[in-house]
Amino acid sequence: MAGTVHIIGAGLAGLSAAVRLASAGRSVVVHEATAFAGGRCRSYYDAAVGMTIDNGNHLLLSGNRAALDYLRSIGASERLAGPPTAEFSFIDLKSRERWTLRFNNGVVPFWVFDPGKRVPGTRVLDYLPLARLLFAPAGKTVGEVIACQGVLYRRLVEPLILAALNIDAPQGSARLASAIIRETLAAGGRACRPLIAREGLGTTLIEPALSYLQRHGTVVRMEHQLRAMRFSNEAVERLDFGGEGIAVNADDAVILAVPPYAAAPLVDGLKVPTEFRAIVNAHFRIDPPPDAPPILGVLGGTVEWIFAFPGRLSVTISAGDRLIDSAREELAKTIWSEVASVTGLPTALPPWQIVRERRATFAATPAQDAKRPSAKTQWRNLVLAGDWTQTGLPATIEGAIRSGNRAADIIAKLP
Ligand SMILES: Cc1cc2nc3c(=O)[nH]c(=O)nc-3n(C[C@H](O)[C@H](O)[C@H](O)COP(=O)(O)OP(=O)(O)OC[C@H]3O[C@@H](n4cnc5c(N)ncnc54)[C@H](O)[C@@H]3O)c2cc1C
Repeated sequence: MAGTVHIIGAGLAGLSAAVRLASAGRSVVVHEATAFAGGRCRSYYDAAVGMTIDNGNHLLLSGNRAALDYLRSIGASERLAGPPTAEFSFIDLKSRERWTLRFNNGVVPFWVFDPGKRVPGTRVLDYLPLARLLFAPAGKTVGEVIACQGVLYRRLVEPLILAALNIDAPQGSARLASAIIRETLAAGGRACRPLIAREGLGTTLIEPALSYLQRHGTVVRMEHQLRAMRFSNEAVERLDFGGEGIAVNADDAVILAVPPYAAAPLVDGLKVPTEFRAIVNAHFRIDPPPDAPPILGVLGGTVEWIFAFPGRLSVTISAGDRLIDSAREELAKTIWSEVASVTGLPTALPPWQIVRERRATFAATPAQDAKRPSAKTQWRNLVLAGDWTQTGLPATIEGAIRSGNRAADIIAKLP
């Protein structure tokens, strides 16, 4: 098959599928509903802080192989920054204790045996439940597999699961938690180096992909929202974009890379996750202290992670549904008071912005995970992509890009 591939949605799933197909010489057209590419992973100019910011801080790890391959393909690997080794600094707001976790490179977790490298206040045996989580049966929550209490839980397991699954850890799918542990902690420090798009998500993950696609002759149509699809018994026949209809010819194909709530009305009978969790980000225009780590875990407060960027400090709060309706200025003040106390910066509120993404990710519970469809559909020329399809990972950049690659590979093999 060598017709045109229509990709619906220019988030990371759609873009990665487009890059892979374009690099193989396929004719590709990307259709994006909004005026910008990147979807939930984007940068924009924000007048309140007077600078370009990201909708939310995004952390990658050096073990995110699909994401790193994608960056290599679009010539942007150098734009991710991170320490040479896997280390994560933490502070406990209540006890004021500070520590840095340092994972050794190999797969044998020597760091667990070194009181200077493991979580302070823990013993070697405390780490055994992590192995239980690693081999958790499907359908169980984290809370059904391990005891969600104790120092190790509070200082490592909970922040890790909350950040990676975007859900209160006890409710999270043990299968998804296990996938994260397998690809990070269990893979050794080499897979755990934190990587950040220091110059912004747009210039790192999105704009280089758009330039790459342009160089390869791919058409990207913005503000081109798919409204409906017409199906025959075995294939998509027509795409309806409102004023414009596009025929899908016998050797054409379609990758639907939109969020689940946009995909469900387009495809009759499609089962998709229906519950979501929010992520709240607060951005402050201020120079970080010179000794600020690029990313700092904060325990015991509202703030969970503080990211230091040039001229800006940005805070992430996962599973932030409880904060969705709170007054914006109050929230900014609460968050800033914690940031000021951690960093020693003045308590006066700097220029700020709060970005609340209500449906940041599907809710990573076992029940919602079970609703994720596979990429192939009953129609031979329609393939699904997106972080919510069955990738085996929680909703992450890595999952979105793997889903895009998989969709492209399925299309490439169509007869
Ligand atoms: C605040 C926040 C913080 C996050 N932090 C992290 C992190 O630290 N690390 C990490 O790995 N992941 C993180 N994530 C998750 C990550 O952003 C997502 O997993 C990823 O961006 C999803 O990409 P996607 O392509 O699957 O979906 P989306 O980004 O949602 O893309 C779908 C695209 O489809 C378009 N679309 C919708 N309907 C139509 C239509 N009918 N026609 C045409 N186009 C349509 C949308 O406009 C959108 O551009 C975070 C997400 C958020 C919101």
